[in-house]
Amino acid sequence: MSTGEATGGNTNRDTRRVAIVGGGLAGLSAAWYLSKSGLPVTLFEASSRLGGRARSFEERHIGCEVDTCQHIALGCCTQFFEFCRELQILPYFERHQTLYFVDTTGQIHRFCPSRWLFPPLHLLPAVAKLRFLRPADRWRLLRGMSRLWRASTKDFWSTMGEWLRANGQTAALVEHFWTPILISALSETLEYIPVVIARKVLVEGLLSTRDGYQLWTPTRPLSHIFDGEVSTRLATAGVAIVKGAVVKGIRQKDTSWTLCFASGEEQTFDGIVLAVPWRTAIRLLPPQLRESVFSGWVERLHPLSDAQDACAITGIHLWFDRPCLSLPHAILLGRHSQWVFRPHFGQKVPVQEAPDGRSALGVTGDRHACYYQIVVSASHRMPRLTVDEWLKVAVEDVKAVFPSAREARLLHGRVVTEPAAVLSPSEEWQRLRPPQMTPFVGLVLAGDWTATGWPGTMESAVRSGRAAAQAIVQSLRQGRPL
Ligand SMILES: Cc1cc2nc3c(=O)[nH]c(=O)nc-3n(C[C@H](O)[C@H](O)[C@H](O)COP(=O)(O)OP(=O)(O)OC[C@H]3O[C@@H](n4cnc5c(N)ncnc54)[C@H](O)[C@@H]3O)c2cc1C
Repeated sequence: MSTGEATGGNTNRDTRRVAIVGGGLAGLSAAWYLSKSGLPVTLFEASSRLGGRARSFEERHIGCEVDTCQHIALGCCTQFFEFCRELQILPYFERHQTLYFVDTTGQIHRFCPSRWLFPPLHLLPAVAKLRFLRPADRWRLLRGMSRLWRASTKDFWSTMGEWLRANGQTAALVEHFWTPILISALSETLEYIPVVIARKVLVEGLLSTRDGYQLWTPTRPLSHIFDGEVSTRLATAGVAIVKGAVVKGIRQKDTSWTLCFASGEEQTFDGIVLAVPWRTAIRLLPPQLRESVFSGWVERLHPLSDAQDACAITGIHLWFDRPCLSLPHAILLGRHSQWVFRPHFGQKVPVQEAPDGRSALGVTGDRHACYYQIVVSASHRMPRLTVDEWLKVAVEDVKAVFPSAREARLLHGRVVTEPAAVLSPSEEWQRLRPPQMTPFVGLVLAGDWTATGWPGTMESAVRSGRAAAQAIVQSLRQGRPL
């Protein structure tokens, strides 16, 4: 598509134009909140679909669409839910009020805080039922949580690993409670997670509100939601959306900003919201602006530097010939496969009986395959595995804990690793996260990696986009009254 063609259009009297580069959640959120300000907005997205890292892919082999990796939002993701409500996409998410831990013997332990006790006391009955922990460890866990709530700022930049050891949390507790919760929320191991970031997730997610711990999962592929529904709502709100528009560079001249596209075209705007991943943002900025906006980043991202800026997440997609678990999700304890999900979609793949009696995926058939997704966060800390090795590990884990999976046959599997799933939550990178407002009039940043107070999540992306929308209005106002 030419960068001039766009869906939607603006009918506003303020002629100053704002461009958003990047149609992930940060860019979509910036577009939505900017559309309310009355400034004409054009959103440029490099790929053919909106949604960025929260996206789906079509498994051509079997003709169905699934998410590259299962995304969950916790009940405490308030701005993400507000965005979903305003854009009328909340009905496409399903709430899980009980968390299911499955221990190494396959026993299921339900974690369901009280509806009657006030937070944080609402956790008492839920923790009491975690029988995979010894009774003394359940008390230690409650003591640990209460200390974390009251943790002082001097502890904030210790690592969670150090803090848990200093606060009497046993190895079993660390392995069976703190690690599964924090590794999936932050995509990193405890020795790299600072207390301040873990505290954000645990205090806001588990301790301070009744519903903060609840999981919300999409009931249809993410691309249907963020590319389909959100795109339509934004176009109706007057946002011009241009897909397939790869920005190769940005130039500043006086108070205006020129976007240079891979197609060779150029377009000039009064304001830019740069809502691309951090490595791309640095590359797109003119060299003379880089150091002011990304102070400390450039040398750390140098190929010869061993600082690790990103965390990896691996999604393992499994289609079996029969149902393996009846739970909507499971947190597997003491296994490489950390979470198993049973999404609503991806299930309608027909199974055909072959002449030799063995079943296979087909185009028609009386039965359907059963689709599950395994998530392994912080996979950059694991030994490098081949696709076959990942599949073997995942199938063995599922069979080991779910009796109904023992006879199941894997019909098809796919492994997707996102090496730069999120910015590292380590102290080094957290301290570098830049604010949305830059020192330059008309240039603001958005992205889950900018300073939002939240780790790299959909919540952080939405918050950053909203803050960027406010920042660009403010920045343009400083340049010339609106
Ligand atoms: C495997 C995986 C699992 C995850 N699980 C969860 C989860 O369970 N819960 C959760 O909350 N979060 C999760 N996340 C994180 C979440 O996906 C991100 O925090 C969020 O989607 C980031 O949004 P963003 O807009 O900041 O960035 P992105 O989604 O990366 O968006 C940036 C956009 O910019 C576009 N772009 C890049 N370069 C250019 C260019 N030159 N020109 C034009 N456009 C460009 C990209 O195509 C992209 O669409 C997960 C991420 C991954 C990868």
